[in-house]
Amino acid sequence: MLDLMKLNIETPNQVVDINKLSLYKIEELPNGGVRIGALVKNSDLSYHPYIIKNFPVLSEALLSGASPQLRNMASVGGNLMQRTRCPYFYNTDFACNKRLPGSGCAAISGYNRMNAILGSSDKCIATHPSDMCVAMAALGATIHVQGPNGTRAIPFTDFHLPPGQTPQIEHNLKPDELITHVEIPALSFTARSHYLKVRDRASYEFALTSAAVALDIQNGTIKNARVALGGVGTKPWRSLEAEKALIGAPANNDTYKKAAEAALATAKGNKDNAFKIELAKRTLVRALKTVEGLP
Ligand code: SF4
Repeated sequence: MLDLMKLNIETPNQVVDINKLSLYKIEELPNGGVRIGALVKNSDLSYHPYIIKNFPVLSEALLSGASPQLRNMASVGGNLMQRTRCPYFYNTDFACNKRLPGSGCAAISGYNRMNAILGSSDKCIATHPSDMCVAMAALGATIHVQGPNGTRAIPFTDFHLPPGQTPQIEHNLKPDELITHVEIPALSFTARSHYLKVRDRASYEFALTSAAVALDIQNGTIKNARVALGGVGTKPWRSLEAEKALIGAPANNDTYKKAAEAALATAKGNKDNAFKIELAKRTLVRALKTVEGLP
């Protein structure tokens, strides 16, 4: 929000400081899940022993994002609400339907190497930038919000919206609602999970492609699977197609390749980012292989 205010992209009439609200807890739930307050810092969440042990994909995703200094300040709620890093969105000299609805999209005909290949529309091809959200999408988290009319629970995959014809509307949060916490349900196999991020440099860089995966392998057969992709979608991209290709199949390279094909079946490349289709497939296959090899 502050970055965008400095560039005159966000110009709120009023800003409310919510730092004194008691939303800083990470609570282990009796059923094995976890409740994470909206003001929990990304650093605290990534280094929490319960998260490292039971949801390593989330810890790894958080630690792959931004820089240590930013993670010390960034909150879970802020991470959920962060907006795209599309360069044309940040430069008011260019047309951008997300910033100024109806003005056009400079990225579609412009330099679009970092833009989306899944879930885009003729109005916007911006990627969702978060790593944390990709892990939370894979884990099937629920976002809890509160407003004057009470509380609501929003399944993670329904929270962020694809651009469609209204790319300026990015999420399901109403103007008078506040995110209070996120709940991650207990799943027996998420201790065997992993986040793999591919990017132009090893630190402080957004994903070209990423994969968050968890596998339940018993006697060489995949009994359950979770897959989400980052750096490629207009929202954190859970792939039910990839999960379907994995569940019930033998845990081997052929299966992983089929899952990757299924995940990217609807991908649409642009002038500078068509390479991400193959890169995303390879990223997913490598992440699945890594989880297969975990103890
Ligand atoms: Fe704006 Fe979206 Fe086009 Fe980027 S891709 S210029 S955010 S409309």
